[in-house]
Parts: sequence; structure tokens; C-alpha cells
Amino acid sequence: MGVSAVLNRGQTMPEKRYKRLKTAEELQRLMQWHYTGLRLPRLGRKLAWVTSGAPVEILRAMGVLVAYPENYGALCGAQHQAVPLCQAAEAQGYSPDLCSYARSSLGSILQPGQAPMNGLPRPDLLIACNNICGTVIKWFEAVARLYNVPLFILDTPFIHDELSSPILDYVLAQLQEMIRFVEGATGNRLSLERLKRVANASNETVRLWSEIRGLCKARPSPLNAPDLFVNMAPIVVLRGTQGAVRFYRHLKAEVEERVSAGVGAIPQEKYRLLWDNIAVWHHLYRFYSYFTDYGACFVVDSYTGGWSQEIPTGDLLQGAATAYAAVFLNQSLEHRAEMMVRLIAEYRVDGFVMHSNRSCKPYSLGQYAIKRAVSERTGVPGLLIESDMCDSRAFAAEPVKTRIQAFMETLSVLHPASSARPVPPNSPTGAGF
Ligand code: SF4
Repeated sequence: MGVSAVLNRGQTMPEKRYKRLKTAEELQRLMQWHYTGLRLPRLGRKLAWVTSGAPVEILRAMGVLVAYPENYGALCGAQHQAVPLCQAAEAQGYSPDLCSYARSSLGSILQPGQAPMNGLPRPDLLIACNNICGTVIKWFEAVARLYNVPLFILDTPFIHDELSSPILDYVLAQLQEMIRFVEGATGNRLSLERLKRVANASNETVRLWSEIRGLCKARPSPLNAPDLFVNMAPIVVLRGTQGAVRFYRHLKAEVEERVSAGVGAIPQEKYRLLWDNIAVWHHLYRFYSYFTDYGACFVVDSYTGGWSQEIPTGDLLQGAATAYAAVFLNQSLEHRAEMMVRLIAEYRVDGFVMHSNRSCKPYSLGQYAIKRAVSERTGVPGLLIESDMCDSRAFAAEPVKTRIQAFMETLSVLHPASSARPVPPNSPTGAGF
């Protein structure tokens, strides 16, 4: 998984159909600051490459700089640089079936000259947590070999039912082992006081992001899927920093302004949709504009909520074990179906679109079963679209447009006067907007 501040290299949005957020420039600056900061002299600080589900708060509290190859992969996709990088990895024998974040990352190491910013700076250590997928283990093992740097794998057992005590104890023991590993690799010790400060900032970031997403329950929704995807970058790569807290305060204020003024993300919201899976980074604004053309706004998604777990206070290591073991991709299909059913009710969604993402097997396997279950339980229709988050070779625009057209025609039959449907005055989700 991963995200990016993606409005780079002259990429433009279809302005007539899309309102740019005032905070877009601040986001751009923040992400540039992050990537530039990784390249500045580090005054003895070590750099860790980590997966998006790694317990970053512990690393920050230990004075370690962090970089996210998944976010970098998303950036490569959005900047249309992923295909040549994937090809560079494939030329070295990595399978085209491998996740395109992994191939972009490996390609950027093998061919830095072709990569945005010449790739990420060389890491001193690697932390891979398999709470999102098993791919990251083999990917990070390959990176460890290429750079000859130490790798720690944090194993989080899959949660089929509930997060049990044995799983929690197992993950907690590994967090303690991870701390010893980082101590060995960096010479730094963990300060619990500092961990508390970082965890507080992390929790505040998570709260603000959840509140911003919650504001999209308003009709019209102040944000559409591309807004959510672009603005999730700091929750992933800067979680636990004051920079992320500041940014989300500003974004929340702007989104609240939109809600109070009744300003929607798209000109005329007729249909409210839910998105499932990672963004189509290589066609971000163009792809979602296919829906905007029909007055359809993605008011919520299953992806950007992936970073909504606060670290329970008290014993912070125990809290981190709970939060990171319970990442949604580490939970059952039933859990994911239930989450979608809940979001459809809360955000008053008319239809849902699932991205069958060739790269991300854990996210995409089982989508047909989830689609069937969600439609049966809610009566809301769903559409499945095949593509890849970064590798545009797996995307065929015309067949996709045809499927979208058929789906939107179905919605127009089901909701002939969708745009005129009133917000129930006392509805828990509609009240206050
Ligand atoms: S396979 Fe999916 S979860 Fe794993 S790194 Fe790729 S995109 Fe992320």
C-alpha cells in the first residue's frame, strides 16, 4: 500500500470539473520537505526504509529517519515513471506479476537514473511488517541483498476472527525484539517519554484524518476520491510528526468551510459512491473524471481509512501491538465486507466500485465474494474494474469506460431523482451538515 502527493511535473486536473483545495500547495511543500529532508546530511541519524504498516512511532522515538518505498512507488505511478522502472526490474528476472510498488522500487535501485529524484536514498536498515501482505517480505529481502543492509521482519498473524491474547503477546514480543534490533543497528536507545510524545502526535494525526473523512458524510461531499488519495500521504509517511498534525488541522478547516458553504468536490453531486482498493495512480484525475461526468462522487473509500487506528494509551508497546496487528488488510473478508456495509450506511452511498488491482493480491482476492455479500446486505450495486495501481500496461481505458457507463445507467434507473434526495433532518450522519 502507499500514497503520494502527486500533483507534480506539470500534471493538471480537469479544473472545470474539479475544485483544487487551497491546502494543495501546503501538501506539496510538506512532501517536498519530507523527500528533500531524507537527502540532507543526517548528522549521524540512520535511515530506515519501512513498510506502510510498520510501527513507525517506535522508530521516530529512537531518532531514526524513515522512508516509505510504497509511497515512493505511488509517486512513480502518478508521475508515469513506474512502467520503465517495472521493466528494469523485470529485465533482472522479477516477475511482472509482482506488486508494481515492489517492481518500481527495485527498478529505481537498479536504474536510479530513470527514477524520480534518482530513487530513495540508500537505507541503513529495513523494517518490513507483513500486516499488509507477504510480498513486502520478499521485496525487502531483495532490497537487503542489493544494499547489504540488515532487515527486521515483524510478523503479525492473520486475524481470522478476533485479535486474541496469544497474537497480541506474540506481536508484542516481536516489537521488543525490533527495539533491540534498531538499538543494534543505530546505537540509539528507546526513550519512553519520547515514544509518548510521538504516539500523541500520531494519534492526533489519525483523529484529524478520520474527522476529515467523516466530513464527507455531508451532501454534497466536500471531497472526492482523488482528494482523499492525494491527501493521505502525510498520514502514511509523516505520522507521528508535528508537520502532519499542522497540515491536517489546516485541511480540516478548509473542508469544514466547504461543508458550511455547501460546496461540493464536484459541480453537481447526483450519486454517492464508495471506492475499494488502492487508487489508479497513473490515471488519477482522468480516471475519476469518468465518474464525475455522470455526477458521481466518491464520498468514501476503504483504502484511506487504513490508517485510522489510534495507539491505545497506557502501555504504549502493547498499544502499538494492538494497532498494528489489527490493520484491516490483516483481517478476514467478512471484516472487510462488514466495513463496507457500515460505510455505505454512514455515508449514504448509492453504489460501490471495486478496483481489482492486479498488483495487490491481498486486497483484490476475494473481491467478488465481498461484492456479492455487500450488495445482498445493502441492496446497493457494485462494479468491479480491472487495472493496476501503477503499471499502466494493465489498464485499458475504453473497456473500463464502457463498464462505467453501464454501471451509471443502472444507478440512474435505481435513483432517477438522486440529486434531489433530501438529507434526513435527524439522521445521525446528516445532522449538523
Ligand atoms: S502487494 Fe499490496 S499491500 Fe503489498 S506492498 Fe503491494 S500494494 Fe502494498
